Amino acid sequence: MINYLYQEQNWQSQLSELITDPLELLENLQLSPEQLLSGAILASKQFKLRVPRAFVGKMKVGDPLDPLLLQVLPHHLELEDHPGYVTDPLDEESANHIPGVLHKYQSRFLLTLTGACAVHCRYCFRRHFPYQENLPKNEDWLNIQNYLSAQTQINEVILSGGDPLTLSNRKLALWIERLESIAHIKILRIHSRVPIVIPNRLDDELVSLLKNSRLRIILVVHSNHAAELDDFTCLKLSHVAQQNILVMNQAVLLKGVNDSAQTLVDLSHRLFDANVLPYYLHVLDKVKGAHHFDLEAAKIDLIYKEVLANLPGYLVPKLVREIAGQQNKTPLFGVATF
Ligand code: SF4
Repeated sequence: MINYLYQEQNWQSQLSELITDPLELLENLQLSPEQLLSGAILASKQFKLRVPRAFVGKMKVGDPLDPLLLQVLPHHLELEDHPGYVTDPLDEESANHIPGVLHKYQSRFLLTLTGACAVHCRYCFRRHFPYQENLPKNEDWLNIQNYLSAQTQINEVILSGGDPLTLSNRKLALWIERLESIAHIKILRIHSRVPIVIPNRLDDELVSLLKNSRLRIILVVHSNHAAELDDFTCLKLSHVAQQNILVMNQAVLLKGVNDSAQTLVDLSHRLFDANVLPYYLHVLDKVKGAHHFDLEAAKIDLIYKEVLANLPGYLVPKLVREIAGQQNKTPLFGVATF
């Protein structure tokens, strides 16, 4: 482990000191530059490396197959084309009526307030998403407000990625206040990987903002492996959960990272230690550049059967796939072909 005192450093400086050079990342982990096979640098130009030092501190020094490293290190296989792996696997552009808004589900409404993430996950289904054309500006709020006000069946707004917790508390407070002004919005869900990669993001100001909102707040974090959840991260998550904020986790099933039942069982137990409930286990969205993380349906079925056999029901995440145009995530277990 790198002895890195990230617990003392505020989240804003951690966010401004990300590692973005693959060679620096390898050097930090005492790995040779040869780990980067030709093509990896080009892959990192197409989708930049971004990783917080706090997250690097959870990786095993000297292990080129560390499951946390594999999620962030650019790989030459990202340059390969494979049939069926496309730039917009969930066809989100067709659900994008107003900048920053994705209305895919009846009662829920997604707002993408920023294109920035604290970490770039190589398997991300939005790695090609044209964020710059889609960020809502202040003047777009009127449009969003009119749209939301007219759609009284929408009771939940989801702040999604980019990562909403890369925004300042001031900006988040402004958006929360705006959403609170619409009477039929009852729930605010925040999807974020920042608490896992920079746990200090869960600072007192943010926690107080969330717990004092009239909206019911759900924080959905994204952790794929128990090694991401060190004691400090668990402490931070647990503190949020104790403030009447529901904290859940979604993970993605990834070849080489968490493709064994034991790894997923350990993840669920560790989440429970942190007061976090496992929510979804997603199979990979078929995004261009991430084919090497995908698993065969039969293997997924086997792994999931073993997970079911080894966990109490409340610790089993739902195995799902998102299918473009569907009104909900599609449950997969027991489905022979997926
Ligand atoms: S944090 Fe989420 S949105 Fe950002 S790159 Fe990772 S998976 Fe994608």
